Amino acid sequence: MNPLKLAKKKVLAVGSSVLKIPTLGRCPKCGSPLYLTKSPFGNYLTCSNPLCDYYKKVEG
Ligand SMILES: [Zn+2]
Repeated sequence: MNPLKLAKKKVLAVGSSVLKIPTLGRCPKCGSPLYLTKSPFGNYLTCSNPLCDYYKKVEG
């Protein structure tokens, strides 16, 4: 199992404390819209495609 995938699951499992904001960005892997996911562990760009595991940590 990919450790990055596990980390993403952990972030998304936090539920109500996670905020997902649509962005104008596109996933470099599959071209789907990207969401800015705000969580207690930091901010991430995540792909809206549930089959895609792309995500990127955002500084700040
Ligand atoms: Zn994607």
